[in-house]
Amino acid sequence: MIFDAPAAARLLDALHRLPGIGRRTAERMALHLLSAPDAEAYELSDALREARSRVVRCSSCGMLTEQDPCSICSDTRRDHGLICVVEHPSGVIAIEKGGSYRGVFHVLHGALNPLEGIGPDQLTVDKLLERAGGEAVNEIILATNATAEGEATAMYLMRQMQTRGVAVSRIAHGVPMGGGLEYADDVTLAHALDGRTRL
Ligand SMILES: [Zn+2]
Repeated sequence: MIFDAPAAARLLDALHRLPGIGRRTAERMALHLLSAPDAEAYELSDALREARSRVVRCSSCGMLTEQDPCSICSDTRRDHGLICVVEHPSGVIAIEKGGSYRGVFHVLHGALNPLEGIGPDQLTVDKLLERAGGEAVNEIILATNATAEGEATAMYLMRQMQTRGVAVSRIAHGVPMGGGLEYADDVTLAHALDGRTRL
């Protein structure tokens, strides 16, 4: 069978490792790519290679961007004194879709998880504390996910901020328990931001 052959098996494995892609879907995608015309199949690998080489982390907020600083950080109409902290770039995208948030962001690129060896040093915590220490920052909103790791990360950051005298709030619940921001609809997310509680 085709997927016993090494090159096709490698493609299948790579697709199967993508988030939300089960074995059957990965097989369908691999078969499609292997039977499609050359131009169509190579468009995917070319696009991936080019995007990977151009997209970097914003040196200020950590969001993925092709221009550093990113479009949010360089937008002077936004409130740079309000920083919403999220675990992943998907959190920024989810909140931006809501359209009502006017502050800026900070992407941690993960959450604290001692069992997997993820401590503050593996995240962009230092950069966040550096930003929070700036005079112009009025409030930090902790919008980490409603999971054990997300809650632990929020508590850790709250303690770090309090010793620095920065106002900190936690996004209101309503964001589905155990879920990431990307699973909340726009209205839920807007309420969650509006209804945040000062810690
Ligand atoms: Zn940025």
